[in-house]
Amino acid sequence: MSEGHAPIPFPWQMDEWELIQRTRRDDRLPHALLLTGPEGMGKRRFADALAASLLCCAAASDGIPCGNCRGCDLFRAETHPDLKYIVPEEPGKAILIDAIREFTSKESLTALAGGYKIVIIEPADAMNRSAANSLLKTLEEPVDRTFMVLISSQPGKLPATIRSRCRQLQMRLPEPSLAKQWLSGETEGMDTALLLSLASGAPLKARALADPALLRLRVKLLRQFADIIAGKADPVTVAAAWNKLDLSLVLDWYYGWLTDCLRLKTDPECTGVINPDQRKCLQGIGKSIEFKRLFGYIDDVHQAIRARGSQLNQQMLLESLLLPLAGRQFGNLG
Ligand SMILES: [Zn+2]
Repeated sequence: MSEGHAPIPFPWQMDEWELIQRTRRDDRLPHALLLTGPEGMGKRRFADALAASLLCCAAASDGIPCGNCRGCDLFRAETHPDLKYIVPEEPGKAILIDAIREFTSKESLTALAGGYKIVIIEPADAMNRSAANSLLKTLEEPVDRTFMVLISSQPGKLPATIRSRCRQLQMRLPEPSLAKQWLSGETEGMDTALLLSLASGAPLKARALADPALLRLRVKLLRQFADIIAGKADPVTVAAAWNKLDLSLVLDWYYGWLTDCLRLKTDPECTGVINPDQRKCLQGIGKSIEFKRLFGYIDDVHQAIRARGSQLNQQMLLESLLLPLAGRQFGNLG
């Protein structure tokens, strides 16, 4: 959100935006919206723009907030009394019942400014069972002009009872050309095609990777991975080094390397690789791992990614991923 302006949806979100604005014009706005879709494509921005639109006193006919009224001022100052965000106290932790109750008590459901009362819950799948049950009661008996936005890139983790009471809006990744165009305007002198490939097409994720130091780190880690396979590096030492980094990012990269190894092992001419700049290296690694083992490694990292946030000991997790790769000289006889 740039200063002095109200948030607006990203260019690739205009179809979904128009869809919601139409339901609003027809007075059919649902009480609860479940925004789903991959990470890094701007679901939160869409929710923000929607909230600003509903709180704006003079929104344009297309729903874009004016940016100048009292509602927009309060939104920008993050002090609007009718907008609440519910997020985990720390990233990766659960959303607890108290946070939900604070919003769902009768008094707090009534809008102070006479318009909508809005809550944005992100990630909604972080609600623990009692928090979800508490929200469910409000979803079952919604108060008029209450608007709840649940954001989740893993909606399967939400109870079915919650999902069924929300209007689900599946956000799609942008067309590659549109994503590239946007990313070019956000980054300078970077390989936008590579960034988008590394981010599986998610523009915000690609923008976050647009840092030469980060890209150098990625290559360094890939070399360490290759060295473990070649028996030239100790997996425990490498795990300790990786443990100091952002685990999500490391697991994401590692997953991309392994799946590229598989792609290139299956079809050396394959064009749909995630790491086109590291093709040779990954093809070489793939050659030295049997299919069965490769599938096993991919399974392991896939499970680690799914369990993200619930691991107690990251060093152990990384060791459990890297140790099986090692040659005999590091004590692995497998
Ligand atoms: Zn306004």
